Amino acid sequence: MSNQLLRQLPAVSQVLLEPSIVALIAIHGHEVVADAVRATLDFQRELILNGDAFDADQLTQNVAIRIQQQESSKLRTVINATGVLLHTNLGRAPLAEVAARAAAEAATGYFNLELDLATGKRSQRQHAVREWLCRLLGSESATAVNNCAAATVLVLRALAMGREVIVSRGQLVEIGGSFRIPDIMATSGAILREVGTTNITRIEDYERAITANTAMILRVHQSNYRVRGFTSSPPSEEIHALSRKRQVLFVDDIGSGALIDYARFGLPGEPLAADSIRAGADLVLFSGDKLLGGPQAGIIAGRKDLIETIERDPLMRAFRLDKMTLAALEATLRLYLRPEKALTEIPVLRQLNLSMDELRQRANQIVEAVRATIPAEARDDVTFVGGGSLPDQAYPTVVVALSPNEGADALARALRIGNPPVLSRVQGGQVLLDLRSIFAEQVELLINAVRQAACGLARQS
Ligand SMILES: *Cc1c(COP(=O)(O)O)cnc(C)c1O
Repeated sequence: MSNQLLRQLPAVSQVLLEPSIVALIAIHGHEVVADAVRATLDFQRELILNGDAFDADQLTQNVAIRIQQQESSKLRTVINATGVLLHTNLGRAPLAEVAARAAAEAATGYFNLELDLATGKRSQRQHAVREWLCRLLGSESATAVNNCAAATVLVLRALAMGREVIVSRGQLVEIGGSFRIPDIMATSGAILREVGTTNITRIEDYERAITANTAMILRVHQSNYRVRGFTSSPPSEEIHALSRKRQVLFVDDIGSGALIDYARFGLPGEPLAADSIRAGADLVLFSGDKLLGGPQAGIIAGRKDLIETIERDPLMRAFRLDKMTLAALEATLRLYLRPEKALTEIPVLRQLNLSMDELRQRANQIVEAVRATIPAEARDDVTFVGGGSLPDQAYPTVVVALSPNEGADALARALRIGNPPVLSRVQGGQVLLDLRSIFAEQVELLINAVRQAACGLARQS
């Protein structure tokens, strides 16, 4: 039986003469198409050996699908229906329109990146963001590099190479993707001096550890985890007072870099960069693409003399921002000069600000539109902000729960490889589409994607 079917499979040369395949050759060239035909025939042969039927009409279509998948861009815009607003695998913070436009303008044109227009002389690229950062944070100076990991390495290298840096044992964190404080310390050439315990570190612990070779006290925000129960660590003001008295630096790596207080969303506990400066940190470090809602960047703000030392380090050049990122960062920072603008224009803030009623309305619209194709219902749920921020604080949301006959994993996969790709949450045998991270203008696209994925699955089974 299968032998007979195998004999029906056409030769590669024969398939290449089919009109639809000839058309593909005109677009993609002979080699790409011939490879795709060969791979498709190999796959078909395997299917037959596994007892499947052979459909000659389907063959040329499968070649076209294979080429389309292989030749299309690897990076694609996806719909984030996971509910996680700062999803590191999905590029963290989406940019505000004005920031994206600024980046595009910088990209396609010339740009006074390192040129002072008034004097015609060369200037520093960080000037574009320094002034805005100082105004927003109340700091003496500021600079920006590639990301917060780079900022940490740079600060340790420029200010503590060969000297001791005191860190609480409760803050020897791994942020993810091999960013571990002890490793970063080793890479930068600073010497880690651990103090205290996992749950308790007292100001006396810091004080006893200070020697003539101590360069700084580094505090690292517990971004992506929490220690609960019997815990304590000294407030910034106490660390500041100690660092003054013993003449060591106090550097505060707050990680997430909120420029407005997330307590307004019912999400307390994220340190504000401005608070850290006010409490006396010599330098504060944070990311541009977490709670700030801008492009990937690492911001260093604080004392002018220290920023100057840091900017003289040779690694500054290796970690510098490109013109598109700088333009996007400047535009994002300027939105914060009028916080009500930041709240409506920065996607992360805008999405957090959406009311449950608004989300329920959108969810019902989706349910109505897909119900004929797949069992669906809207319900209230909770989600997390993500991106190593606010790890234990559930945020209210609304989900569309889909119950496919073919199983949740199969539908989640079909959604992922659809057009546009949709990333969902699989939970309790259902596929959840979380409205908190779906943009208003994506709802129609999402409805189409769900229908297509569900129909595709039903056809296969
Ligand atoms: C996220 C984070 C970092 C790393 O920031 P990137 O911008 O991702 O390099 C460093 N420190 C803390 C405390 C963080 O939360």
